[in-house]
Amino acid sequence: MTNERLAVLSLVAILSAPLGAGTAAASCSDRPGTPIQMNITDQVYTAPGGPTRAVTKVYTVPGELFVHELTHAWQLHNRKPTMYQWIIEGVQKSDYAPLTNRSWSQGDIEEQAATVNTWFHNHATAAWTDQADLKKRLESAEALRDASFHFIKDNIRLGKN
Ligand SMILES: [Zn+2]
Repeated sequence: MTNERLAVLSLVAILSAPLGAGTAAASCSDRPGTPIQMNITDQVYTAPGGPTRAVTKVYTVPGELFVHELTHAWQLHNRKPTMYQWIIEGVQKSDYAPLTNRSWSQGDIEEQAATVNTWFHNHATAAWTDQADLKKRLESAEALRDASFHFIKDNIRLGKN
């Protein structure tokens, strides 16, 4: 078993029952005292290059979908929403618009995740080749000047909601 497979297996699903034919490729949740778990569909799991490079019609940059779902794992760890909050925020949204003129804490779970995956999309681009190249792209002046970068710097990296 590869390390990547083990890593992905360590992220198992709870809120993922209806994952089949929809566009949602993954979801995640946690239980008190247990690791955060994420479920991914077979389509993502068996993607060329592995699940961290999976693409869909919506998430067209390799890694973008994984980043989106990892943001949900971040939320579970840092926001610690109640199951009620999580379900309500997760099902009430029909658009996944990134935050623009609002603070991070004013965004719901999908707006926050969309903010992170959109920043990744715009700066990783589909052309990224390997980890070193990806790091270079995400640390480029353009990526750091992006209007959404403050969410990456001040919220995601600091674990601050
Ligand atoms: Zn989402």
